[in-house]
Amino acid sequence: MTVPLLDVAQTSQTLEASPGPAPIVRVALDTPADDCFDYVAAHGVAPGDLVVVPFGRRSMVGVAVEMADSSDVPPDRLRPVERHIGWMPPLNAEWMALARFAARYYHRRLGEVMLPALPPSLREAETWGRLGQRAQSTQYRVREGQGDALRAAVPTRSRTAHALAAALAATPDWIGLADARALCTAAPARLAEWEGAGWIESSIAARRLLDIAPDQPPSVAPPLHDEQRQAVDAIAGAEGFAPFLLHGVTGSGKTEVYLHAMASLLAADPAAQILMLVPEINLTPQLQARIAARFPHEPLAVLHSGLADQERSLQWLAAHRGEARIVLGTRMAVLASMPHLRLIVVDEEHDTSYKQQEGLRYSARDLAVWRANQLKIGIVLGSATPSMETWHRAEQGAYRKLVLRERAQADAALPTVRLIDLNHERQRQRHLFEGLSVPLLDAIQQRLERGQQSLLFLNRRGYAPVLACDSCGWLSGCPRCSAYLVLHRPERRLRCHHCGLESPVPHHCPDCGNVDIAPLGRGTQRIEEALATRFPDARIARIDADSTRRKGTAQAMFDEVHAGEVDILVGTQMVAKGHDFQRVTLVGIVHPDAAMFSHDFRAAEHLFASLMQVSGRAGRAGLPGEVLIQTRYPDAPALQALVRHDYDGFAASQLRERRQASLPPFAYQVLVTAEHGQLERALAFLQAARERADACALAPEVQLHDPVPMSMVRIFNKERAQMLVEASARPVLQRFVSEWVQTFGEVGSAVKGVRWQLEIDPLRI
Ligand code: ADP
Ligand code: ZN
Ligand code: ZN
Repeated sequence: MTVPLLDVAQTSQTLEASPGPAPIVRVALDTPADDCFDYVAAHGVAPGDLVVVPFGRRSMVGVAVEMADSSDVPPDRLRPVERHIGWMPPLNAEWMALARFAARYYHRRLGEVMLPALPPSLREAETWGRLGQRAQSTQYRVREGQGDALRAAVPTRSRTAHALAAALAATPDWIGLADARALCTAAPARLAEWEGAGWIESSIAARRLLDIAPDQPPSVAPPLHDEQRQAVDAIAGAEGFAPFLLHGVTGSGKTEVYLHAMASLLAADPAAQILMLVPEINLTPQLQARIAARFPHEPLAVLHSGLADQERSLQWLAAHRGEARIVLGTRMAVLASMPHLRLIVVDEEHDTSYKQQEGLRYSARDLAVWRANQLKIGIVLGSATPSMETWHRAEQGAYRKLVLRERAQADAALPTVRLIDLNHERQRQRHLFEGLSVPLLDAIQQRLERGQQSLLFLNRRGYAPVLACDSCGWLSGCPRCSAYLVLHRPERRLRCHHCGLESPVPHHCPDCGNVDIAPLGRGTQRIEEALATRFPDARIARIDADSTRRKGTAQAMFDEVHAGEVDILVGTQMVAKGHDFQRVTLVGIVHPDAAMFSHDFRAAEHLFASLMQVSGRAGRAGLPGEVLIQTRYPDAPALQALVRHDYDGFAASQLRERRQASLPPFAYQVLVTAEHGQLERALAFLQAARERADACALAPEVQLHDPVPMSMVRIFNKERAQMLVEASARPVLQRFVSEWVQTFGEVGSAVKGVRWQLEIDPLRI
């Protein structure tokens, strides 16, 4: 091909003039003011395009949602679209329907869903050009033997499209997108369509980023066990909307099931795309490597917030253009545009990080299920400890349950779980050493002697959660929050984990001058120190948000653990999830008790899930594993169930309690929170909102609770209050809320300065 390369700026100017009255385009913008705004469409603007439009005195990027013949805005006040992106294929109707649903369900404006769902370099028109240049380097070529089919499928009357098809069919070489556009301005859309039909294929932006050798042979999949085989067959054989719950203990081979189901789908459908969600960024490298090794020739895109803007945008574009066949990502990836999406996997579906806690407070798992239903495709929710919502649905038959009962590797058994009763330890007058009991210390000693690894789990970072004065009772409170400043000893700082306030560690009590101020309680740093004192020859590593602040350190530390260069690993939940530590045979849970006093009705569920997760790190290959849990409450149902590895029994008792108390999943909740410098104002806002409720479609099933201060009432000098709204059925609740939330604007003008937020299906109350 000798067609000159065109740059992006040029192509977007080669628009022909159109006859007739200028059409109107409705544009979604990221503002709470309205869903869409009308503009005069520039020629060539189509629904799904990104556009730049004037908004007030600024220009904003928006999504063209639909075209219209007329507008309620008087013609002299209608302003024209300034630019449109040109080189990017439009977002399709399915993606827009997903955004519409999310906006409706979470009571947000359309643009407040759409724009944040796009990668950063697409949200800013200034970066379009550069991104477009890089994105253009994607190339296309005809699939072997498909040339005639392609030519035949494109009618000669669409002249430019036919020319493009002919050019592709005439050569086995790659044709760049820029060259393709020179033949046919609608090339991106056409190429996506033809690729979908299997006539052509595209080069892989994603693979370039991943640096996979093109001639690498795939890693060998282990032969599946019966239960795995049944699960794979069920998933691969399903038609239409097919939701599955894959319930299997850690190490039971769930990932292997996903990979086999993916393989079967990728082989059956040359265009199919698969979305796989994982809860944590830290889990992506391991899984990415596993997927890439299994499917070395399938383009894989990765989406998470740890990527640089441009890189993330390129990955997103690879998904959007149908180039990436597998998209692996954290919760944000559920909103990725994937025109050929055919299967969704949500690994560790119970994980709370699937819930976005700011902005659009969506549940990625719930949106994934909706999306699968919309597209009539399969979705696999995998977990060792499914959420009560998911479990309940599976019990009701709405999700099909697939069970993996045993650990997959022949020599891996479930670990034995033992409770260390701290009351009993005390009765025997055996003192704890810095919070560590004799049986736990003995067990660590044994592992050291055998050359095996131990993992100590404590979900509290820092050295000690508070600094205290013995003589006057002073505690290191945060001046801005109702929380304590946490002592970080190695850094010699006091830090608030809520507002970020930092101060030096005082040498004496600020109130009475006493020099004997002492840390109270324990965090990971203190456990690390205690272990170093007790086991001076052991190699100890601590993995938590503090020790892994610099980019790359987390991965480096995990690599060390995997390489056997660490004897004792201390960590927060960062070490609990997903990692396949082959040499860990002891898991010690230092202090689970704090979770038992929570008012949150989900506390037991979350405790059980997190302890089960971390227990699952023990004894994964060959060596028998042991889990020791130190507690003062050995009778707690969650702990008893853990000893028996009895998720089913635990879930049944939880659901029984929830049913009796009319709590989710037997009821539906919406939480309104309000914050202000003064608590009374926040409460007054909620009270005023409450009074408006009567005027709305308040069905008798809907129950409004009293506004109350939140349990952590102050963060960063803002006092926070909340009001819970509950109903036995979702539709009445949603109907009520959508009407009610309209009145919040007026409430806000009456009670000024209050920031409010609405959360549907709140996870923490
Ligand atoms: P999960 O996702 O449930 O934690 P994985 O799929 O990661 O489980 O499997 C746990 C371990 O067992 C991995 O090392 C995996 O390679 C291995 N494994 C999985 N399935 C099989 C099988 N059918 N035969 C042998 N080993 C298997
Ligand atoms: Zn004092
Ligand atoms: Zn603070």
